[in-house]
Amino acid sequence: MIDLPQKLYIEERVLSHPFTERILSKLPDVPQEIIEDYKKIGLEKDFRDRAIEDKSCLALAEKKGEVLKNVGRMEENQYYLFHEIDCKYDCEYCYLQYYFNTKVPVIFVNRDEVLNQIEEILQNTESPYFHVGEVCDSLAFDELTGFSKDIGELFNKYPNGTVEFRTKSTNVESLVSLDEVSSNVIPSWTFSPEFICETLEHKTPKLDERINAAKRCQDAGFTVGVRLDPLFRYENWEEDYHQMVSTLLERLDPKKIDYITLGSIKLHKNLLNAVRTRFPESPVILGEIVPSVDGKYRYIKFDRVDMYKKMVSWIREIDSDIRIELSLESEDIKELVFS
Ligand code: SF4
Repeated sequence: MIDLPQKLYIEERVLSHPFTERILSKLPDVPQEIIEDYKKIGLEKDFRDRAIEDKSCLALAEKKGEVLKNVGRMEENQYYLFHEIDCKYDCEYCYLQYYFNTKVPVIFVNRDEVLNQIEEILQNTESPYFHVGEVCDSLAFDELTGFSKDIGELFNKYPNGTVEFRTKSTNVESLVSLDEVSSNVIPSWTFSPEFICETLEHKTPKLDERINAAKRCQDAGFTVGVRLDPLFRYENWEEDYHQMVSTLLERLDPKKIDYITLGSIKLHKNLLNAVRTRFPESPVILGEIVPSVDGKYRYIKFDRVDMYKKMVSWIREIDSDIRIELSLESEDIKELVFS
């Protein structure tokens, strides 16, 4: 069943676009407002109201400018997709809270441009890597767009490239209905203990539902990614995370896990301000986080190393082969954790 948005904003210029029509055919009864520019949606409202009200809506718009981006810390052949922005879920730690002025999730309907540009890179680059889900949840609207199927079919033709879908969603129908599954299409889930899903990851599917979705993809032939990032320290964190690791590696086939990434919260000061405004009681900001060398707020090094080492040992109790990575940590932290 489709999770209906409360309202649809549609840019006038994309009203008769075939992709708009495809989406509208699945949302016949949702109230619509025709607009000039998605970037102006909700700007007259207070930041908190915008975040609450507009996140339940959806905008269809035209993407102008780059649809693929290679930014600062990325390797030369890596790209983020800007085919959708923002998210219908509402995680308290999400950097999208401050990244865009508008809060409404947007689907860009000039999707052919995205597919054409990806294909051009696949034809001219040795081993490009595409991240879907850096500025959105990659599968949150897949039931409306079927984008993962278009991408899956494209990557079946180009084994030299890899595409990763980062998600917390359970919308895997398009992926599991692909006629051919190739190893260069990697759906990856962020998993958190149920306590974190309930307290910090508002509107997201529960842990159990995410595991079921990942399992469905494994059963259909995919190798999946597992992202345990961000990790949180709270009273029962050890018990909860140990239990989650055991459940994950029992329910999923470890041989069909491409990697497990571990990371801890990293809050830009603008995000910290957004969290303080929207969630003043949030355990995210009540935890012991301090600014680190890059200016982002994190747990102190000692606590991060402690968490990573314990997580690695719980994973290794069950499987000695899975590739484990640390997300955005320095070489000295990696050495302390893995040596
Ligand atoms: S699911 Fe991901 S993109 Fe969506 S709000 Fe949560 S962290 Fe942000």
